[in-house]
Amino acid sequence: MHSLQILVLGLMFTMTGAFASEAPLFDVHIHYSHDVWDKIPPERAILKLREAGITRAMVSSSSDEGTQRLYRAAPDLIIPALRPYRERGDLETWMHDESVVPYLEQRLERHRYAAIGEFHIDGEEAELPVVRWTVQLAKRYDLMLHVHSDADAIERIFKQDSSARILWAHAGFENGSRVREMLERYPNLWADLSFRWEIHRQGRFTGVWKALLEEHSDRFMLGVDTYTPLRWLQIQETLDWYEALFASLSETAARRIRHDNAERVFAFYSSRSD
Ligand SMILES: [Zn+2]
Repeated sequence: MHSLQILVLGLMFTMTGAFASEAPLFDVHIHYSHDVWDKIPPERAILKLREAGITRAMVSSSSDEGTQRLYRAAPDLIIPALRPYRERGDLETWMHDESVVPYLEQRLERHRYAAIGEFHIDGEEAELPVVRWTVQLAKRYDLMLHVHSDADAIERIFKQDSSARILWAHAGFENGSRVREMLERYPNLWADLSFRWEIHRQGRFTGVWKALLEEHSDRFMLGVDTYTPLRWLQIQETLDWYEALFASLSETAARRIRHDNAERVFAFYSSRSD
């Protein structure tokens, strides 16, 4: 990279960084799992989120203890989501483990949450009994589902509960036209943009994604996805990257994705008393 490009990039990040600290940011995809607690204790983690300009964060962790520790440190900032994982490796096996259901029930009785998730499934796995129970628990407790899956699994969940409300992690890593089709078919579907590195070129969203983000600007949300300790050190950098990209959107779309959509969709959580 030429030094001029580095200078321009540096300036851009400085400017957008300053802007980001003024505009409220709602991050819907934060994890605080057991491999992070010792390295970054709750008070430091909260400080990191606030310093990055994050004003609300939906947090889930493996196990749920991490989420509860963060929540106790800053109930004004943290919105807890309940993962069906007690350890990191559970993401590949949880849907076959029937002990997940009583675990979820116990936690739901004891603590307040906005969502069940983020959990991982694909296609037909959505039909497994443990997943069906999880969908029913979300319905019974009136919670969102935060689902990392392909479009097929999302359709299967909506078949089980047509009134489900789903936040689709990473927009399913599906292509723009498939995401558009899903959003247009399901009014209770929203998508987070974490880890979608391929939807931009040279600092701008691709044509397909720019059109999608503008036309459905009320359906997308921001997420850093701190799934490893390293990701906690990259929060500011990742948000700067988003801000630079948001400059290629209308102000309205950027404001909605950065904050307003999540604030509106998760208002039910804030309005519930303890
Ligand atoms: Zn995640």
